[in-house]
Amino acid sequence: MYETGETAPHTGIYLFVRHQYETRCQPEQEEKEVPVDEGDKFPGCPVCEEDGFWRYLRAKDKKTD
Ligand SMILES: [Zn+2]
Repeated sequence: MYETGETAPHTGIYLFVRHQYETRCQPEQEEKEVPVDEGDKFPGCPVCEEDGFWRYLRAKDKKTD
């Protein structure tokens, strides 16, 4: 898993797995899937922005334009 503030090794959709500290915040599944580009830092929780852990989910969706 990756932590908030770590640099992403690959571009893709990442899943917010859990917060670093106990919290009542419970993001919806949709909210937990976030695109991160290679070289960017992992963000905090998509809802409360607290630090947390991420794991790679799938390749980034192709743009249709
Ligand atoms: Zn949160």
